[in-house]
Amino acid sequence: MSIVTAKEIMLPAAENKYAVGAFNITNLVQMEAVVEAAIDKKAPLIIQTSVKPSQFLGRDVLVAIYRTLAESAPIPICLHLDHSTNVEYCKQCADAGYTNIMIDASKQPFEENIRQTKEVVDYCHAIGGISVEGELGTVSGVEDQIKVAEDEAALANPTQAVEFVERTGVDIFAPAIGTAHGVYKTKNPKVDFERMGKINQLLNSDEVKTPLVVHGGTGLPDDYITKLVEVGGAKFNVSTELKHTLINTTYNYISDNREQYDPGKIDVAIKDAIREVVGRWIDILGSAGKA
Ligand SMILES: [Zn+2]
Repeated sequence: MSIVTAKEIMLPAAENKYAVGAFNITNLVQMEAVVEAAIDKKAPLIIQTSVKPSQFLGRDVLVAIYRTLAESAPIPICLHLDHSTNVEYCKQCADAGYTNIMIDASKQPFEENIRQTKEVVDYCHAIGGISVEGELGTVSGVEDQIKVAEDEAALANPTQAVEFVERTGVDIFAPAIGTAHGVYKTKNPKVDFERMGKINQLLNSDEVKTPLVVHGGTGLPDDYITKLVEVGGAKFNVSTELKHTLINTTYNYISDNREQYDPGKIDVAIKDAIREVVGRWIDILGSAGKA
């Protein structure tokens, strides 16, 4: 039985300075590929879905496949709902069997963010077996549901971060530190490592209580990733890179094999490509062999 919450696998990660990859999937083939890659690497795993895929695939279907794969896997696996801005939808996914729920009320005023996040925390903790992720500040970029102009981005204030975590009781915490969703427009994105380290120190200096999450993994330079793990990043969300891999692999396969009508062969090509990307991430995050 390898059904776990995100917090369970992030605590040892934060203590031992490695991070768990949270890989975004939009279909079954990707989910299988992500699981296979993590099994190959003996790495703990977080499968994540955005809100839209959880709606068009159906959260019950996703949870059923997740449970089937996780129960026979020799590694711990969490199913994470990413960036739900809707409290009721968070509750529905918690009921369905997701094991980590992100309520993203970060666009709300501070007090309202606390109120909504706490409501989801209380609900999920009452069910049990679910950890909750909250966000403070704004992760810039373009993504499902949320569009934030880069100049609008507000980073998480360390003092407010402590207040937010204490008052909401959130299990894992995503502070905005300058990472962005989508594809970085520059080779040297502005990431506030110091702020991340400060927040981690305030929250987790005696013992790790509230492990930290880094959003916007795609395109971060390897040395940024290593540095972010050092200053407390225990979960990295990787979405855009997997979407690009899926689309590009499909396009290339069809372009090269225009007379081929065996869909299974496209799936094999996609799986191979996704496994490679996920394997590379696991190596950089240092989570290989930690399951
Ligand atoms: Zn995100």
